[in-house]
This record gives sequence, structure tokens and C-alpha cells, in this order.
Amino acid sequence: MRTLVLAPRGRDGELAVQLLARHDIDASACANGAELLARIADGAGCAIVTEEALGPTVQHQLAHELEGQPAWSDFPLILLASSQAAHHLQRTASALGNVTVIERPIAPDTLITAVRAALRGRCRQYEAGLAIQQRDQFLAMLGHELRTPLGAIVLATELARNDGGRSQLEERLALIARQSKLLARLVDDLLDVARVTTGKIVLRREAVDVDATIAACVEAHEERARARSVALQVVDRSGATIDADPVRLEQVINNLLSNAVKYSPAGGCVQVSSSQRDAWCQIRVRDDGIGIAPEMQGRVFDLFAQVDGSLSRADGGMGIGLTLVDRLVRLHGGWVTVDSAGLGHGSEFIVTLPLGSPDHAQEGPPEPARRPSNVRVALVEDNDDLRDLTASLLEAHGCAVVVAADGAAGAELIVGARPDLALVDIGLPELDGFQVARHVREHVGADVVLVAITGYGREQDREHAAQAGFDAFFTKPLGIDSVREILSSARRRRDRSPA
Ligand code: ADP
Repeated sequence: MRTLVLAPRGRDGELAVQLLARHDIDASACANGAELLARIADGAGCAIVTEEALGPTVQHQLAHELEGQPAWSDFPLILLASSQAAHHLQRTASALGNVTVIERPIAPDTLITAVRAALRGRCRQYEAGLAIQQRDQFLAMLGHELRTPLGAIVLATELARNDGGRSQLEERLALIARQSKLLARLVDDLLDVARVTTGKIVLRREAVDVDATIAACVEAHEERARARSVALQVVDRSGATIDADPVRLEQVINNLLSNAVKYSPAGGCVQVSSSQRDAWCQIRVRDDGIGIAPEMQGRVFDLFAQVDGSLSRADGGMGIGLTLVDRLVRLHGGWVTVDSAGLGHGSEFIVTLPLGSPDHAQEGPPEPARRPSNVRVALVEDNDDLRDLTASLLEAHGCAVVVAADGAAGAELIVGARPDLALVDIGLPELDGFQVARHVREHVGADVVLVAITGYGREQDREHAAQAGFDAFFTKPLGIDSVREILSSARRRRDRSPA
């Protein structure tokens, strides 16, 4: 997130921008108040404004702009002022809200600490804003999803009461039964997801024949698939028996089948298979439907996540099916992943479950880190605040994070811990990021996804990073979107590599 600087006199603004850049803070100077306001409205991390720049007009416009912020937003402003002015600015500060006044002469460390604190708070605000937006979207969708079958039931009941002969009555009763079932399923899914999230689902395990369970689920979907001209085939059978809750296993397979049929066009083909390997059984549901874009693949298992688009909405759904699948599979000691070559290229969901007794499951998968939401990340960053902030952002995305504060420790950590992903700052003490990358590639080869993070986005830095062995290059500070992009590509690569 960018820091804006409004300091019109002399080269104050430029100097502040350079100071921030030296500390890997993305900053840019604004020529005047109007530019500052426009760029705040576009989305920024915080703003530094000097007292000379804060004339009555700018003050008034700023107050107006900040009043119009959404409820989750509390834009941070840092005012730089002489000690006499600092006293008078307290009133202005309270009118503008989230303001820190720093007295001149300014110690660079004080300014950097204040900017980092402001950016950290702003990052949290965006996360809260996103959560509120998702909740509102979900409520709107829930209303829509419930209203559709309810509306049909109300209308059919009216018609059944008022007119028509016997056969029409039968038809309407059948419609009411169908729509009530749909409604009940929506409510069941909602309750299940709440129960599974709070750990209230208890598995009733028994020996379950995987192929027989798949066959029953496929049969249950045949009519719907036929109605949509989608072929449904079982292509391989494992002969496996697993220790599972049969009702929950069916729920997992049914959700995947239901999506595969739902997201396939007429003429499409859905294939289900199961296989055994070592102590594990895999169930695959593959379709040649609309596919999933790379940046969404890491998110489809998140609660309420949906890839927007008319096709995905045409058949309803609340974005909870895959969350349920993920949680139920994990309860069984397994994990689920998705693979798609992108939009229009179909998707494959792969469920991996332990064979045999529950004791076996408790030993855990051979590589627990292969679970989709548990990417193991090594973070090498010398700045304490940035390291903490980035680590919490990664942890909030379900990663297990280990950290190092200099290049030598970082190289040792990555080689020793063999994480799935390493995020490495370029400007590090001891060894710089490029040297770390070379060392890692020399000792562990291509096994780790290496991402360079730097304050400079120059073309030569990118080239240098690629030559040193980095897979990707991002400029600081890492926002939520970049973190998601990095994680989903790390997951994809990890899930593709042989177990
Ligand atoms: P929904 O009720 O929206 O289907 P899910 O949790 O089952 O919710 O799926 C989440 C999102 O993942 C869907 O909205 C869709 O965008 C995407 N998705 C799931 N399965 C498939 C598939 N087989 N092909 C393409 N996209 C899929």
C-alpha cells in the first residue's frame, strides 16, 4: 500500500519519499491538495502532510473526503509541524480523525515508525472491510437463494388451492415437494457448515467401500446429468475400504459431483475414479466444464467463495459446498485439492483419504504440509515490523510461518526447513536476497518456490532476481492480493509435485 506525501515547499516532499523508499516503503509525492484527495479516494495506505500544505481549503476538503469513508475505513494521516503549530493542530487533528502529529525537526526513525504503524493499521482495516463486504454479499445471496424456492412454493400452493384439475394438482404438489427439498438442503448445508466450523460434527466411522459409495452418488446424479446432457462415468475403481463416516463421505462426493455437473455445459463429460497408493485412497472428480482461473484455485474452498459469472450463478449455490467438502475431508484425516488448466479447460477435484483404521489416520498424512490451506512459508525480512506484519498476514491465510532476520540465517533456515515457499527480501544484511536464492538453489534445487520481495520494481532487479533463481518478484509492501496470488501458485506447484 502506498504512502502519499504532500509537502509543497522546496524539496521536502522528495526527501521524504526518498527516505521512505530507503526503508522499502512505497511512497509518492503529490503536487497539490487536489491530487492528494484523488489518490486517497483511489485507495492508499496513509498520507504525510506538512503544516504548510494544510491550508484551510485542503483541510476542509480532506475533512469532507474522510467523512465520506465507508464505516470500516479510518484513513491515517501523519502531520509534520513545528512545536508551536503542533499545539494548534490538535483541534484540526481531532476533526480529521486518525491523525498523528510529529513535531519538527523530525527524526527519520520516528517518521518511519509512525508510517509503518499507520500502514499496519490500514492493512487491518482493509481486511475488516473485505470481511464486511463478503458478509453482505453472502446475506444478499442467501436472501436470493431462499426466496427462489420459497416463491415457487407460495405460488404453487396458491394455484393448487384455486384452480386446475387432479393432474395439475399432482404436478403442483410435486413442484412443492421438489422445492421444499431444495430449501431443506440449503438450510442443512448452512447448519452443517456452522457445525463443522465450530468442531461440532462427530464422525460415525465404519468400514466403507469406496467404489460402492461412488456408485451410489453417481446414481443419485444420473437424472440431473441426463437432463443437462452431461455424461457421467466411473472410469477407475480402487477396491479400497476406508474407515469413514459413510454419510459424510457421500456428502463430499455428492457436493463434488453436483458442482461438476453444474459447471459443465451440455455435451460435457464428468468422470469419477478412485485409486489406492501406499496407505492412501484417492477419489477424483474430473469435468471438462468452465474451469477455474489460477488466481481463484486457492480460494474456492474458502467459505462463501464463488467465481462470479452468469454461468456460476445460473444454477444457484451459496459458496459453501466446497468449504464443507474441505472440512469434512480434513476431519477424516485427509485433504482435498483442485487442479484446473484455467477458464474453459475443466477442473479436477482430488480427495485423498487414509486407508484402514482411524489410528492410522492419526499418524497424519505422509506430508501434512500438503494440505491446501497449510502452506509452509519461510519469511526472510530484516525489518521487524514488516516481518511481523507479513507473518500475520500469511498466518491469517492458514500458512505455517518460520522467520529469519538476515540473509545468512535465512539461507540456513530455508535449506534446513525445506518450506513450500520462501519469501525473501532483497536488501538483507549478511547475505543479500540474490545470494540467499543462489545458496538455496544450490542446496535444495527447485523444490522450494522462491519469491523476491523488494522496494524497487526496476526491470534490471527483476532480471537479476530471475538469474539468481527466484520464481517470482513482488514489490513491497505485500498486499492481500499479492499474498493470495503467491500462495495459490505455491499451492498449485506443491500439489502437482510428486508426493
Ligand atoms: P457454489 O454453491 O457456488 O457452487 P461451492 O463452494 O460448491 O459453491 O463452490 C465454490 C465456487 O467454486 C463456485 O461458485 C464455482 O465458482 C467454483 N467451482 C466449484 N466447482 C467447480 C467446477 N467443477 N468447475 C468450475 N468451477 C467450480
